[in-house]
Amino acid sequence: MTECKLCPHHCNIAEGKSGLCLARTNVSGNIVCTAYGRLTAAALDPIEKKPLYHFFPGSKIFSIGSYGCNMRCPFCQNYDISTNKDIDTEKVTPEQVVNIAISLIPRGNIGIAFTYNEMLTNYEFVVETSRLARDKNLKTVIVTNGMITEEYLKPLLPLTDAMNIDLKCFSESGYRKLGGDLQTVLETIRLGAASCHVEVTTLIVPGFSDDEETMRGISKFIAEINKDIPLHITRYFPHYKYDSPPTDISVMRRLATIASEKLTFVHLGNI
Ligand code: SF4
Repeated sequence: MTECKLCPHHCNIAEGKSGLCLARTNVSGNIVCTAYGRLTAAALDPIEKKPLYHFFPGSKIFSIGSYGCNMRCPFCQNYDISTNKDIDTEKVTPEQVVNIAISLIPRGNIGIAFTYNEMLTNYEFVVETSRLARDKNLKTVIVTNGMITEEYLKPLLPLTDAMNIDLKCFSESGYRKLGGDLQTVLETIRLGAASCHVEVTTLIVPGFSDDEETMRGISKFIAEINKDIPLHITRYFPHYKYDSPPTDISVMRRLATIASEKLTFVHLGNI
């Protein structure tokens, strides 16, 4: 058995097996990122789609994703790539990604976004690609659930220009239901905001994160770091194992009003 220390799960992985995220495997006693450079999706997206509304607005960013995730949200909006390691992929090198990103500059591209699945489980690829991107003056963006240990996050932050970090609820018990750890995510937001541009996203899921107390906790926590950190309140639609109807728009608006009591920038998404 070998322990992976990338995220708070600290999986003890048997020889030849993968950890919970499916992206990291024990190969001869070493934890190897078997998802390394294996892309499931690549697109030139508007930066607002990450979502980042206050980081080079109006620009585009070359967005890539792989497979695997270290949480198990029953309402996952991308479960086809987050839970399937046998999905078709295209193997690329960091150099190839950077070269494509450079070729897209004439179309408005500012850099590379690691997104779609939980790309921090593809850590080594993200670090190496970000380092090369920095050398070429490309911006780097990470869209993440924030589930990464400080030991791994700290070396990555100097290579990162912006992050969008999910804050899915504001209780340990809620995070446990999703296979996550609240304190780790809060620390990722704190450390990220001290180092680069950060925006936070909360998906409003009926019966899980649509109550006023949750929004008061989230907005107070963010405001204590910096009230100018933007918060995206996004609307849930039925996906994966969750079939509740989409979040009521009046609930979204009420939660946005509550968040606006503490925060300068509150954006509703998916409505
Ligand atoms: S990154 Fe993956 S393998 Fe490593 S501890 Fe987290 S879930 Fe387990």
